[in-house]
Amino acid sequence: MALGVVVVGSVALDTLELRGHVHPDVLGGSASFFSVAASLFAPVRLVAVVGEDFPEPHRAYLAERGVDLAGLERAPGRTFRWRGRYSDDLQSRTSLDTQLNVFADFRPQLPAAYRDAELLFLGNIHPALQLEVLDQVRSARLVALDTMNFWIGGELAALKKVLRRVDTVILNDEEARQLSGEHNLPRAARAIHALGPRTIIVKRGDAGALLFYWHDGKQGVFAAPAYPLEEVVDPTGAGDTFAGGFIGSLARSAAFDAGAIRRAMFHGSVLASFCVEGIAHDRLRTVTMTEIEARYAAFCDLTHFETLRL
Ligand code: AMP
Repeated sequence: MALGVVVVGSVALDTLELRGHVHPDVLGGSASFFSVAASLFAPVRLVAVVGEDFPEPHRAYLAERGVDLAGLERAPGRTFRWRGRYSDDLQSRTSLDTQLNVFADFRPQLPAAYRDAELLFLGNIHPALQLEVLDQVRSARLVALDTMNFWIGGELAALKKVLRRVDTVILNDEEARQLSGEHNLPRAARAIHALGPRTIIVKRGDAGALLFYWHDGKQGVFAAPAYPLEEVVDPTGAGDTFAGGFIGSLARSAAFDAGAIRRAMFHGSVLASFCVEGIAHDRLRTVTMTEIEARYAAFCDLTHFETLRL
């Protein structure tokens, strides 16, 4: 049986500027992408807050995907809002506006049923909130964390406090460099390991993801490519969707051995490859298990090769 996952993170209304088009108030936030991806593999319980303006169809979509919303509070005020503009090649983006709104006063109170979660994902949100949730889940066998430049730059002391209590950190290459002060990624991973986590996943956009680990005195590294798509529509949420596929897959395996972790890296890559095929959640909304299995098989084909015997 799959293990239970609890996630805390942002549930947002995003305004995306992509190739001259503006997409206002689409569903976003680290926890929305994570939850939808992870719930394809395992039961997911969401901890977040939205405002009175949060559209009912977004809530209904998360519920239809099987996400437990008992921990999604509706508070007086406006939902968290983020506005981003992408370069035409989609390789870089600028955050134009971040409005915390209801997240500014959020004090997560986990429903009793959430406290026995086996996997805890501290999604991208203020590190003080990540810590409050961590304190309420006592039974977690694996705690993973994501963050971003906004918090590394502004809340480093609080972030370091959380990192000391986390097994796995999932962040992108620029964030790994900013957090560690090292440009070289293996060195950056080593420096982050010194802050607490023993598994460090560095997401590199269309260059795939690297896994650095220090387990049972052994150090290792593993790589998963990104799927070579002919057309990318919107990269928003790809990182959170990767994390959801990764953690959901581990929860489904109910094991954290090397084989399970490698499969999880590919499940993360599969889900992220679907995410970027549509605006915001558009492609995740329709993806089926059959499509996921077919792309997983395509990944196996893409990366398989024989050991060289001389
Ligand atoms: P990603 O593309 O995986 O980095 O995730 C993008 C999502 O992160 C968007 O849907 C935003 O709503 C959300 N986001 C942006 N800035 C923040 C922030 N400071 N805290 C929490 N979530 C954020």
